[in-house]
Amino acid sequence: MTDSATLEQTTPAATTMLDHWVDGAAWSGTSTRTAPVYNPALGRVQHEVRLASTADVDEAVAAATAAWAQWRDTSIAKRQTVMFAFRELLNARKQELAEILTSEHGKVISDALGEIARGMEVVEFACGLGHLTKGAYSENVSTGVDVYTVKQPIGVVGIISPFNFPAMVPLWFFSIALAAGNAVILKPSEKDPSAAIWMASLLKEAGLPDGVLNVVHGDKESVDALLAHPDVRAISFVGSTPIARYVYETATSHGKRVQALGGAKNHMLVLPDADLDLAADAAVNAGFGSAGERCMAISVVLAVDTIADEFVEKVSQRMGTLRTGDGTRGCDMGPLITQVHRDKVASYIDVAASDGASVVVDGRDVEVDGDPDGFWLGPTLIDRVPTSSAVYKDEIFGPVLSVVRVDGYEEGLGIINGSPYGNGTAIFTNDGGAARRFQREAHVGMIGINVPIPVPVAYHSFGGWKASLFGDAKAYGPHGFDFFTQEKAVTSRWLDPSHGGLNLGFPQHD
Ligand code: NAD
Repeated sequence: MTDSATLEQTTPAATTMLDHWVDGAAWSGTSTRTAPVYNPALGRVQHEVRLASTADVDEAVAAATAAWAQWRDTSIAKRQTVMFAFRELLNARKQELAEILTSEHGKVISDALGEIARGMEVVEFACGLGHLTKGAYSENVSTGVDVYTVKQPIGVVGIISPFNFPAMVPLWFFSIALAAGNAVILKPSEKDPSAAIWMASLLKEAGLPDGVLNVVHGDKESVDALLAHPDVRAISFVGSTPIARYVYETATSHGKRVQALGGAKNHMLVLPDADLDLAADAAVNAGFGSAGERCMAISVVLAVDTIADEFVEKVSQRMGTLRTGDGTRGCDMGPLITQVHRDKVASYIDVAASDGASVVVDGRDVEVDGDPDGFWLGPTLIDRVPTSSAVYKDEIFGPVLSVVRVDGYEEGLGIINGSPYGNGTAIFTNDGGAARRFQREAHVGMIGINVPIPVPVAYHSFGGWKASLFGDAKAYGPHGFDFFTQEKAVTSRWLDPSHGGLNLGFPQHD
């Protein structure tokens, strides 16, 4: 069933229209274009979402620009108070948000709560942001002259987020942007846009002035409008690599500061001395959590030949215990985001077979605890995947775990470093020397040592290397603060009569 076929069958009057959020209220804008928002576990359209025009984006940017004038002058203490109140409301009502995530994304409720918890960490970091605003101060750099630096907000910033973390990724960026004194236009994924609106209205309840955070729904037209708008000073983007590259190149050509986080293909190297039971648990958790729709999912296990048979056996045994189904029913793994995406992911199973790999567990045969029209594909394990195969090379973004057999550490490291992506990677070993070599030698931005999904805590920063991040600022943590502020150096002298006299030479220190 295609997306459009599903739409025709199931667009009765029951669907609701999702508006933008501009200047502190729902706003319909002027565009008449809309897109369907599915419940992927039911395979049915549940909402229509508006797709903003360039004129709609202009209106939102105007609201943000007007609101910024006051927000930038609001004290750090007051901005942090808003973030504290937001954190408390979010914590109290996280179940409500988790249910929204499950109904539009499909991830199971426990996973949705995990997403919110990891996003809330960044809100908590933003509550203490005053600490990072401290500049440097050098007294008497020249007689009677002091130099100091201050960090100031940059203005209106655009945040463009992907479907797979509809709450966490916006929280990563807007929490710090707002606490640092910027105004925000958030353009969430049109596939699961309700979380963004829900959070915007919660921020209003927490005391955020109208217009400081606006949500504009849309597709390429609204993104292009943000990338080119002269009053949008910076862009934070998260999504697939081709779009991240496009966003980076386009927005920088318009003079903007840009961080564009892209796609991934994360490897887990299992050495013969690893605890194979713990490594198999980790591979299953990191490969199939959120149906593999995580940028930090493990999609390739590099298993050293001597333990590969045993490891594959352990992984496939564990996969037999997983329940795939509706995220509200206590299952382990939910559906994929759309039927089109589900079919694309499933097509790699045929590619694997024709490329000479061996399909150990075929997710197309899964028994599902859910509506038959849901976008289901069960956990899939493919062994002996050649690195020349598209199954190895492409970011599949689904519950398909590949095993590539290697003869040892060097071959495994070579494969990791040969990948165009560099988001996350993990090594499983009990050998401290091998682990230390790995963390130094892997050309990847986030390394796990016996940790399969090494997403850093909020006071470090998140980001990959190579085609997984365009720009030089990672997300959240100190990088996030630097990205959303600009530093000013002030040279100051309080004049007294001894400073008089004319001298046209370049200033020198005395
Ligand atoms: P996507 O690239 O399709 O969409 C991301 C955003 O870009 C959405 O808001 C979308 O509306 C917009 N967009 C889509 N097509 C566009 C176009 N032609 N021009 C301008 N804007 C466009 O990504 P997705 O499918 O929503 O998310 C999954 C991808 O995101 C995966 O590749 C995943 O690895 C990546 N991701 C990366 C990270 C990271 O931290 N590196 C985190 C989460 C997701």
